[in-house]
Amino acid sequence: MMANGSKTKMTPFDEVNRRLDEAREIAGVPLEAMPLLKTPYREIRVQIPLFSAGHLKHYTGYRVQHNAARGPYKGGVRYHPHVDLDEVRALASIMTWKTALVNIPFGGAKGGITCDPTTMSEEEVYNLTNTFFTRIAMILGPNRDVPAPDMGTSAKVMGWAMAAYGRMNGHTPAVVTGKPLELGGSVGREEATGKGVVIITKHWAEDQGLSLEGATVVLQGFGNVGTYAALHYANLGAKIIAVNDVRGGIRNDQGLDIPALMGHVKTAGSVVGFPESDPLDNDDILYQPCDYLVPAALGGVITAENAGRIKARVVVEAANHPVTPDGEDILSANDIVCIPDLIANAGGVTVSYFEWAQNIQQFAWKEERIDEELRTILARSFNQVLEYTGGKDCSLRQACFALALERVYRASKARGYIRI
Ligand code: NAD
Repeated sequence: MMANGSKTKMTPFDEVNRRLDEAREIAGVPLEAMPLLKTPYREIRVQIPLFSAGHLKHYTGYRVQHNAARGPYKGGVRYHPHVDLDEVRALASIMTWKTALVNIPFGGAKGGITCDPTTMSEEEVYNLTNTFFTRIAMILGPNRDVPAPDMGTSAKVMGWAMAAYGRMNGHTPAVVTGKPLELGGSVGREEATGKGVVIITKHWAEDQGLSLEGATVVLQGFGNVGTYAALHYANLGAKIIAVNDVRGGIRNDQGLDIPALMGHVKTAGSVVGFPESDPLDNDDILYQPCDYLVPAALGGVITAENAGRIKARVVVEAANHPVTPDGEDILSANDIVCIPDLIANAGGVTVSYFEWAQNIQQFAWKEERIDEELRTILARSFNQVLEYTGGKDCSLRQACFALALERVYRASKARGYIRI
């Protein structure tokens, strides 16, 4: 389960629903429509046996399809020891609101397997993936549900997922996104989430009359999202003064050399031991004084218990749901701005949409087009959020949820699915 220290002991799914309740009146959505809009359409749990080195192991996998009023279900698949049904449900719901906010023609879903891929061989991860995707294949498809990578999965895993689906249904690249380029993956997809995080941070900073040049950044997590976010922040002249991963953290007040650190991680498997840095305890990463604190790993890491210790000016939610509602109340009271996950990390699903569109058209776009369309969609969406906060006198979070809720409600009405 996500680390959750909120006083009310809400689960992650409760917390997402609290965000929706806070946005409902602003969005003008009738109270009676809320149970339907909050509840997932379908949840599937599958058993995954794994025979390895003469032993039989047993895993559990989930796929939650939350809402498809605006298009096929869309969302990542996570391999992590903390995966459980409630967390997957929360993440599936977040996807519904994220795709609506950036106005791409998808709904929301999420999947996961409770496992620790860092302790498994490649063959074990392959077999796990093959069985999981074979067992959920009947609810997937380019016009039904389109998975993507998330924590603990990668382009390689998506290639195996596409092949598992293809054995039953024929070659179908558009059934998953975030695939290797050789299988119809899109240029720019791998870096899209991290790049989007920086595009949104820059947009927010400019709106405030600030520049990222010389700004200090601290990142929790140096995987797909954290790495590319760090690289793009550094490219804009920001100083990455501390980062960590599951094994430990590092710090350098002069700014870490991110390309060199990426090279170190490739060989060492962790940021730990990077030459031009001092070690930093994982328990301390969130409390480093900085301009931008960027959680890019787990959910529920900033809660009512620890939010008072955050010394950043802005928290940029690169991870999904890293700040609990009670945690955010404390950040706001301390004048710390939170740029919500719904917009901050939407670059990934946006380029996933481009990948799906290219697969369906059987025509590959050039990198320049991907970059331009990504920037256009993120800028348009964030401008709408900023205008909404002014017009409705609400927070960035409330604006994101209210705009998304309005869109999903209107689409549900247009389908005749909701008739109030
Ligand atoms: P990843 O598996 O590539 O990387 C995760 C990173 O977090 C690794 O560096 C890992 O060591 C680190 N980590 C794990 N547990 C940690 C801990 N307890 N303390 C510190 N670090 C820890 O995953 P990712 O794809 O980069 O995803 C990270 C977050 O971003 C997740 O919340 C995910 O839902 C979200 N996200 C990912 C995408 C995407 O396109 N991959 C899109 C949107 C949102």
